[in-house]
Amino acid sequence: MRIDLHTHSMASDGTDTPAGLVRAARAAGLDVLAITDHDTTEGWASAGAALPDGLTLIRGAEFSTAVPIAGRRVSVHLLGYLFDPADPAIVAEHVRLRAERLERGLAIVDLMVADGIDISRQQVLDIAAGAPVGRPHIGRALVQAGVVGSVTEAFSSYLAGHGSYYVPKLDTDLRVAVQMVTAAGGAAVIAHPRGRGEFRALTADVIGELTDLGLAGLEIDHPDHDEADRAELAEIAARYSLLRTGSSDYHGHNKTLTLGQCSTDPDMLRQLISRTNGVTGPIGGSW
Ligand code: AMP
Ligand code: FE
Ligand code: FE
Ligand code: ZN
Repeated sequence: MRIDLHTHSMASDGTDTPAGLVRAARAAGLDVLAITDHDTTEGWASAGAALPDGLTLIRGAEFSTAVPIAGRRVSVHLLGYLFDPADPAIVAEHVRLRAERLERGLAIVDLMVADGIDISRQQVLDIAAGAPVGRPHIGRALVQAGVVGSVTEAFSSYLAGHGSYYVPKLDTDLRVAVQMVTAAGGAAVIAHPRGRGEFRALTADVIGELTDLGLAGLEIDHPDHDEADRAELAEIAARYSLLRTGSSDYHGHNKTLTLGQCSTDPDMLRQLISRTNGVTGPIGGSW
């Protein structure tokens, strides 16, 4: 059974429509797919309406969060699954995060334009097409302008977190986000806790505190994690009885990885679902 619990559509910074994403998932042989766009549930309805036979859809979102560790604000992505999309706290925070993304995205564009780079605010807004603005949208504008050859190349130069065009955004406090997802009947899982080395600050002690606040699991099997990362995280998960998930973090053409590249064990998914209150259940398939 192939279960991919972390993917993006055009409702955020992927390149497949939500309907195209569920079709591509089935074509890739997946049995279960989670749609987890950044800071929005906008893709849920059209993904659900286009569900192919035999595919189960888990509706979720990836929340942009930050946690203060050793005097720094460390950026952490939090996956929320099967929460109530009408929950007032979540709706309000999603609205705030999208506004924050817009302002910050335009600020990055302005810095580039001031440096003579031939992209524009309107171009990036057209590429985002109403989705929460992310650096991949700016990356595609840079590709269109012939400044870089690919979005991945843009991320290692113009869009890098340590680069001169980086503008931070005010993300949700990680502890608040874990409580918010849990209170909305969903299950919270930390996305790629060792992704690209950014999150080394997320120690076992911090993860232990988050478990007390309701954290359900860790995304251990992720393309950004090597064997040592996975072994370390598996030990932390065992210590705090956290669930282990696996996913591709598919973004369509924006990233060079495939749907179902990493997978979640069916028993882990069963336990994850049992941590939610049923207001938003899995749809389609036999789950
Ligand atoms: P932002 O959310 O605006 O800070 O942009 C970071 C997002 O870009 C993350 O969610 C990444 O998953 C995503 N992303 C998409 N394509 C790439 C890529 N080629 N390299 C790195 N990050 C990428
Ligand atoms: Fe992304
Ligand atoms: Fe992420
Ligand atoms: Zn993601």
